[in-house]
Formats: sequence, C-alpha cells, structure tokens
Amino acid sequence: MAAEPPYVVLDIGGTTLRAGLYDPASGAVTHVRRQPAQGIGALPDAPVAEIQRLVTAQLGAEIDRLLATDAGRRARGIAIAFAGPVDITGRVITAPTVWGRRAAPLPLRELLESRHGLPVLVVNDLTAATWRYATPDSAPFCLLTVSSGIGNKVFRDGRVLLDRDGHGGELGHWRCDFDPWAPLCDCGGRGHLGAIASGRGALAAARRAATDYPGAFRASSLAGATCEQAAAITNELLAAAVREGDAFAVNALKPGLHHLARAISGVFTAIGVRRYIVIGGFALAIGPPYAELLATELERVGCFGLDRRETRRMVRLGVRDDDSGLIGAGRALHAAARTAPEPADGPPGAAPAAAAGIAAGTHPDTPRVELPAAGEDRGDRVTSPT
Ligand SMILES: [Zn+2]
Repeated sequence: MAAEPPYVVLDIGGTTLRAGLYDPASGAVTHVRRQPAQGIGALPDAPVAEIQRLVTAQLGAEIDRLLATDAGRRARGIAIAFAGPVDITGRVITAPTVWGRRAAPLPLRELLESRHGLPVLVVNDLTAATWRYATPDSAPFCLLTVSSGIGNKVFRDGRVLLDRDGHGGELGHWRCDFDPWAPLCDCGGRGHLGAIASGRGALAAARRAATDYPGAFRASSLAGATCEQAAAITNELLAAAVREGDAFAVNALKPGLHHLARAISGVFTAIGVRRYIVIGGFALAIGPPYAELLATELERVGCFGLDRRETRRMVRLGVRDDDSGLIGAGRALHAAARTAPEPADGPPGAAPAAAAGIAAGTHPDTPRVELPAAGEDRGDRVTSPT
C-alpha cells in the first residue's frame, strides 16, 4: 500500500524560516531546511508592504522546492506556523517580529492557495506548537513558552481555544505589576508578565540585583564569569548558574516565577486545566531545575482544591528542539482536514479525516481544510507562480 501523502510544512519567525515535509503516519519531518527569514530583522529599513511581498515570495519558493521532491509531488496540503496572530481565514493580523510595524492584514492563505493550487492552513506558531502535544485522549493542557517573551495556548476538547479573530493565549501581556516603574513590555505596556517572567525579564532582574546587592553578586559563580560586571551577565550564563543551583541566580529568577505561578493558578482556578507544558529557549536552557522551581512557586501560591502533591505535578517541560512549529503545523492540518467527498458521499464535509487519531472538531471557531483525495493529480491544478 502506498504511504500516506505528506504535507508541506513551514515555520516562520522573526529570524528563521524552517521548511520540510511532514508524514502524518509517522509524525516525522524530513527534507528540513533552515534559512534566515526575509523579515524586518534582515531588512530593517524596508517598507512593510515590501517585507510582506518578500516573505510571501520566500515561503512560495520553499514550497516549490518541497513540491518538486519525489515525496513532495504527492503532497495534499500546506501548513504554515506563523509568528503572529492569525484569524480563522488564514489572514495574518499583525507580525511584530516578522514585518514590525502595523500594516493591513495579509491574506496569506489565499495568496499561497492561488499560487500553489493546494489547500493551505495558516496558524499562529504557538498554536502549531500546541498541536505537537495534543493526543487523541488529551486531557486539557496549557502550553507556556518562556523565551524572550511569554506566550500560552490552551488545548481543550480537541482544539486550541481561540476566537475567530485569533484572540487567546496572551498571558504574556497580563499586567501583574502595577508599579509605575515596572519593566516595559515589547508591546509598550508596563508590568506585563512577559516583561518580568521571560528570559529577558530574568536577565534584567539579575543585572539589577548584581548592582543593588554587590556582596551577594560577588559570592555568585556569575561574578567570576563576568569579571563582576553586572552588564556582562547573559541569558546563557544566568541559565547555567541556575542549573548549578547558584543562590544569587535562583533568587533573581524567583520574582518572575512568582508572577508566572500566579498566572497558572488563575488559569487553573478559572477553567480547571491541570497540565502546564513549558517550552521556550530560556526555560529549556535551564531544564529540569526550571520546572522544579516553578512547581515550588506554584505550591507556595496554591491551587484551590488541589493538595501539594497534585499542585507540583501540574508543571512539566516540553521537548528541547526547534521542530515544534513544523510538527505541530502538520498535526494541525491533519486535524483540520476533511477529505473532499465524492458527489455520492453525502453532504460536503461529511467525511472526517482520520486526523492521526485526533477527532476533527466541528467548532465554528476552528479552521477547516478540504484536502483533495489521495492520488489525485496535482499537475493541472497548479497555477504558475506570479
Ligand atoms: Zn505586553
């Protein structure tokens, strides 16, 4: 029996574009290539409309490359994880890290469908990462990313909880510190969780503490690594010091962990989600000690109705690699897929795909994608690139 057709999967962020082929049967990604994204990071002075055109062209060129491979010729769909909010129709609403300034929403799904003649799913990159951890019998869970910022998404009843405009999962912009001098967030707000509990927030806290408490700093392994220069502390050094259990570094992390634990306690208390999977460069660089410290802080904050042991078990780390966007985009497309029915098969959309065992939901806020039947010739549906 022929193998199941693959999907073309892409993951675009502020600095890197990743692309490959996703095999829905095995969950593996092959033909992966990483390259610098043609975004504002590479072209800081380019007009937004020009960056949007270049990013779309770069995505198109990678899709062409993958569709030209032996395996890619059989691809039935394309899934894109995009660093920014995306609505149910596949329009990118804003993309602060990709094209910076606000612009008209980009109808990325429509543009790529007309160019490649295949169904396209566009989802937020953290939504895609969430699908990586979704299983057929998934108990509800919340994915948390702790890197230069903070983000989250909740998976429940077979879908990521978002409204049609892509709202949901913005705990990073929850205001948790009302001090007029609280740290500034990327969004311009002050005292947001993402400015305090992220890697960037922890680094700023460590540098402040090194200046304010020179005695404690001198006793820390960070002092030797930085020649006692507060400004020379980096996220890498801070993560290494926390891993070693350095008291100064751990104490610098704690205020941020406290606010993050309060956010988790709030989500649990409101909607009863008991699993929190933590990913993101900063948390994963620290590794198991990060989950331990967060669990300890969560135990201290408390979760109404749970005992200490149950509370500690709520936190665990995700996988440390950069494939979540690609794998998750493939899984999201598989879950959203409807195989195009034959005319005699009944009403359109009546035949749900197997969806890797994930029940395809019917919620109106969830995107649906209609795939061509397996084995259908793609040749005459492909339009020429523009
Ligand atoms: Zn913010």
